[in-house]
Amino acid sequence: MKLILLGPPGAGKGTQAKMLMDRFGIPQISTGDILRAAVKDGTPMGLKAKSFMDAGGLVPDEVVVGIVRERLQKADCAKGFILDGFPRTVLQADALKESLLALGKDLDAVVSLDVDVEALVERLTGRRTCRDCGRGFHVKFDPPLVSGKCDTCGGDLLQRDDDQELTIRHRLEVYSEQTSPLVDYYRSAGLLTAVDGMQEIGVVQDQVLRSLQAG
Ligand code: ADP
Ligand code: ADP
Ligand code: ZN
Repeated sequence: MKLILLGPPGAGKGTQAKMLMDRFGIPQISTGDILRAAVKDGTPMGLKAKSFMDAGGLVPDEVVVGIVRERLQKADCAKGFILDGFPRTVLQADALKESLLALGKDLDAVVSLDVDVEALVERLTGRRTCRDCGRGFHVKFDPPLVSGKCDTCGGDLLQRDDDQELTIRHRLEVYSEQTSPLVDYYRSAGLLTAVDGMQEIGVVQDQVLRSLQAG
């Protein structure tokens, strides 16, 4: 299964990607996670990406295109992969097409998650992530058993620096200007299935799975 999860920040891409990863035994490729790890490690790529990420803008296409091209060549992608947060521009989508062509692979589906702007803001301001294992939570919609601690590993739950309301609103604008054209891009390619992402996590999960089985 080779698929893209498409949708604005906070739509639930990461949440659904983790579920699909367990279900199908294929890796989640989150460019956001890869970039945050590079920032944390202070690599040259991380140093380059940091200012764009802090401002809620997009990291330059050539950086993320390079990350994904390399990642797709790894052995664990042989059975498939879930792209989460990539592509985010038409240029990235075109580059992905070329990378896959060179590997003799093809996308099976693009699942888009649709969520209202105000719901996105509420999801992102309440999002928390485990510092140790990366598991995601929400203070209201998916709370941990013990406040501030990860259910899986007991690690501390942190709020991302870019999940502040002003930055969030900017990221949502960037999405609507630069990323939302990909909905039509993949619809024209006959790959798009849209799921109503406003529903509860478990309901969205069922519908994502059903849309993949139907396709
Ligand atoms: P994305 O990867 O698209 O930015 P996440 O999966 O990180 O989004 O979800 C953003 C926040 O919203 C997280 O705190 C997550 O727990 C929560 N969330 C995800 N899906 C839903 C949903 N269907 N309903 C309510 N909250 C959700
Ligand atoms: P979210 O799903 O909440 O928007 P991500 O973790 O996917 O967050 O991305 C966090 C930040 O990393 C983005 O705001 C952007 O600066 C950078 N980023 C991630 N993926 C890409 C991409 N494909 N192209 C450009 N920048 C990216
Ligand atoms: Zn954890």
